Amino acid sequence: MIVMAAQATPEQVQAVLDKVRELGLAAEVSHGTERTVVGVLGHETESVVDALSLLEGVERVVRVLHDYPLASRDFHPQDRVIELANGVRLGGDGVLVMAGPCAVESRAQLQAAAEAVAAQGVRVLRGGAFKPRTSPYTFQGLGEEGLLLLRQVADQLGLAVVTEVLAPEDVELVAAHADMLQIGARNMQNYRLLQACAQVERPVLLKRGMSSTVEEWLQAAEYILAGGNLQVALCERGIRSFEPAVRFSLDITSVPVLKRLTSLPLVVDPSHAAGRHEYVPAIALAAVAAGADGLLVEVHPKPAEALSDGAQSLSPSAFAELMGRARRVAEAVGRELR
Ligand code: PEP
Ligand code: MN
Repeated sequence: MIVMAAQATPEQVQAVLDKVRELGLAAEVSHGTERTVVGVLGHETESVVDALSLLEGVERVVRVLHDYPLASRDFHPQDRVIELANGVRLGGDGVLVMAGPCAVESRAQLQAAAEAVAAQGVRVLRGGAFKPRTSPYTFQGLGEEGLLLLRQVADQLGLAVVTEVLAPEDVELVAAHADMLQIGARNMQNYRLLQACAQVERPVLLKRGMSSTVEEWLQAAEYILAGGNLQVALCERGIRSFEPAVRFSLDITSVPVLKRLTSLPLVVDPSHAAGRHEYVPAIALAAVAAGADGLLVEVHPKPAEALSDGAQSLSPSAFAELMGRARRVAEAVGRELR
């Protein structure tokens, strides 16, 4: 990690980048408010460190022992902010709510869900077109048709779209219609998919694998960052535990742990952790209080008729109530619900 001096010029930063490339190494630049840091990827030797530390404008060269250098807070000390669409930002002061149905089922269903969440001030519509279902006999999503519906309904209401991509070959298609690509828990360690998502200019929401450690999760994020896409956010959605009362156990401790280890924005999905709508509000409020940068919440106009995850989906009225409470909790911890 090359820490540039506070007064380093753009030309000096460029000279450092040229030197790094000349040495056959890859670099990523982080422009902070106070100084620029250049992350160099590769196994450095003493002579490389010497060559780089002698360049003009370089304050110091630090060896980083992380397995996830680009994701680490050392590389980018300030909280990172990702822009999903015009004025819709994830990370920083606000808590961004993303809400909508588990899956896109029909135009009418999506329209009703989108209107219900937009009425509460939500600016990001979620909804799966490609669904990773545990059973092959259940609803698998509308595929491309679902993507088109998402885009049309979101555009009518001025919303951004986050939706899951299941396979590397679908990344371009999903990126053409969505503002943010979601990588599901079941695919957190699908390295080809992570690499494919690094190739497109779209932010990525990387969900935690249900049996993955924080370290494994950060290394998965590193695949996307190292591939050249620095717009990565993490999403805690619960992990497998011995407790059958809930679908997954929400690891609320991952919020402060990740805040220390990384400056990537962190979203919490209370819906897939809870598995039941009654538990969703309490978990969502806890996440906001703990410091999450966003919430990903399932909302269905008629949960009893949902083709997937109806039991954990909030009705429009339950969602409206949650938003009111979440706004107050956010304010209590010095943030604004967006
Ligand atoms: C989803 O968001 O609908 C989903 C499938 O979530 P997860 O990957 O966390 O199970
Ligand atoms: Mn779901």
